[in-house]
Amino acid sequence: MRVGVIAASLGLSIAQQIPPATAQRPHSHPAALTVAVTARAIQPGEVVRLDIAGPRLVTGLTVRAFDKRIAAARLGENDWLALVGIDLGVAPGEYPVTIDATLDDGSQAGHVETLMVAAKEFATRQLRVSPQFVNPPPSVQHRIDRERRQLGTLFREIGPEPRWTGSFLRPIEVSVVSGFGVRSVYNGEPRAPHTGADFASPSGTPVLAPGGGRVVLAEPLYFTGRTVMIDHGVGLVSLLAHLSRIDVRVGTDVVAGARIGLVGATGRATGPHLHWTVRLQGARVDPLSVIAALQGPRN
Ligand SMILES: [Zn+2]
Repeated sequence: MRVGVIAASLGLSIAQQIPPATAQRPHSHPAALTVAVTARAIQPGEVVRLDIAGPRLVTGLTVRAFDKRIAAARLGENDWLALVGIDLGVAPGEYPVTIDATLDDGSQAGHVETLMVAAKEFATRQLRVSPQFVNPPPSVQHRIDRERRQLGTLFREIGPEPRWTGSFLRPIEVSVVSGFGVRSVYNGEPRAPHTGADFASPSGTPVLAPGGGRVVLAEPLYFTGRTVMIDHGVGLVSLLAHLSRIDVRVGTDVVAGARIGLVGATGRATGPHLHWTVRLQGARVDPLSVIAALQGPRN
């Protein structure tokens, strides 16, 4: 059923590029792996879900894509999950995902899935703000550098074991006002693309954990203000920013829907809103594509 949904949601250009046998149904080769591919679209900033099963019990799995090893998690006795993030900066083209499995009799099985990444256009927005907003004062540069290293370390330390159960959901039930990948131009100066989703909501609105996991950061940072980071496992991490209040501590395990804080405008924010960033093994992906990939119970 999941695979049928994907085929329906694939853009026309993608459907034309991917042979139906690859895009629309799980497929297998003799003594090979069965791989079901789920994605909203095969484009920069999207999450591709691979559900993998062996011809017999799989005891070990190695998945590689975009020149790195992709975490794979065992969900059921013979069901494995891998999430591949197509980074915002990936150029259109063909990218192989190689899957190598060890079976319970010691034999090997393999599979190569080719992702046909289609081009995506991202919007541009023009903003006028005070000059200090665009260029932080030199006095805070040391703090900014330190926090950038701190976040980089945390992003790299996300473990392979899944920490969530159930579905992912929106941290606030309002529509997104500034989407993933939007290019902002502040006072005529182009800036790096927006790598999260912004939800406009009044200060004090509860912010919910978008998925289960462990809180690995809960403190004020220069750009993102009061910030909570959640390690979901399998290489997936969420960062929720600009909170007026933080309600969780580092080391706490949260479930999807648990309140982690309140909406605010702390850090570099033009007004109260929630900013939600996701990284998937370093890839900058749209948080809403994570929700699409992780609908329904994990098992
Ligand atoms: Zn934002």
